[in-house]
Amino acid sequence: MFSYRHTWAQISLDAIGANIRSFQALLRPGIRLMAVVKADAYGHGAIPVARAALAAGATHLGVAFLDEALQLRLAGIGAPILILGYTPPASVIAAVEHDIAITVISSETLDALEAAVRTIGKKAKLHLKLDTGMTRLGTASAEEAWTLLRRIQANPLLELEGVFTHFADADNLDSAYTRKQFALFGEMLQTMRIHGTEKVLRHCCNTAATLLYPDMHLDMVRVGVGLYGLYPIAEARTRTRLIPAMRFCTTIAALKHVPQGQAISYGCTFQPAKDSLIAVMPVGYADGLPRQLSNRGHVLVRGVRVPIVGTVCMDQTMLDVSAIPGLLPGEEVTLFGQDPLGPPLGAAEWAVLMNSIHYEVVCGIGKRVPRVYE
Ligand code: PLP
Repeated sequence: MFSYRHTWAQISLDAIGANIRSFQALLRPGIRLMAVVKADAYGHGAIPVARAALAAGATHLGVAFLDEALQLRLAGIGAPILILGYTPPASVIAAVEHDIAITVISSETLDALEAAVRTIGKKAKLHLKLDTGMTRLGTASAEEAWTLLRRIQANPLLELEGVFTHFADADNLDSAYTRKQFALFGEMLQTMRIHGTEKVLRHCCNTAATLLYPDMHLDMVRVGVGLYGLYPIAEARTRTRLIPAMRFCTTIAALKHVPQGQAISYGCTFQPAKDSLIAVMPVGYADGLPRQLSNRGHVLVRGVRVPIVGTVCMDQTMLDVSAIPGLLPGEEVTLFGQDPLGPPLGAAEWAVLMNSIHYEVVCGIGKRVPRVYE
């Protein structure tokens, strides 16, 4: 996309491909790999990321809702797509028309799916969601799961492509809760007589579980955050090498010499203790630079960490760059990611200041920030 802006998110599709291959190396042969590209591929851009992930060996794509799936189909992506989240009954027919698998969470979704395949006379793929302890979508009852399964198996237009569950606590090392969920999933599959020998894919692992619980890979893993080179927990770094795919960048718009005590930005929350050189960046909270970083966050200029000073504005943010001699307007700033001139600054560092997780940092990069692919 052409843009006049000098704030952008640089996305490495080579990193996406390399991360897919790193995950594949952890999987036994035959295990499928779903690239989770919901939320515009966690802010990285769903279409280019999906293409890069598939080219590197991902077999399936996971999205949150139908619009996200249609965006991929309209871009000409023909790979299997699963809507991991809720599909309202009225939307089921469009999913079937576009060969998009939906997640059946209840008899209501199945009613809608049966009606859709009857109306258009076309086969539909679906995955059945079991709730083993996340207490989100899916049935928690083995009997209900069995009843749904019987209905699915009785309908020649319905193809059960998978049965899955989602972990609540996989990003904790040696989580007893995850082991309990996995055991319950196994029991429910047993009741349903799904043993992994037939064509139904059993899947439960997100990135954390894929890295930390190799015994739980089953027939497919669903990798989201790791695809983007981010570790769900620091301890998982020992399991494989991932490369962060995003570098969030801007350029210095203006530099000004500010005398000691001169207030900077809204609310006058910062006054320098000595005469300082202040840089103005054309990026703010509307771009995904969180306001919680006001007077707390750091960014990289020429590879050097410099502090954000004053309140982060909607479109602009100030830095104290007194430590860097000879700086000029137009020079590049790495907000987070790998700086060409020094060590990286991780999105996770921002997440700590936001009292959040790096998932929110990358998903929060605004729509008006152009993505530049390399
Ligand atoms: N599977 C489901 C059902 C999800 O909701 C998500 C993301 O939230 C994922 C897989 C991917 O999770 P992660 O990004 O932690 O790998």
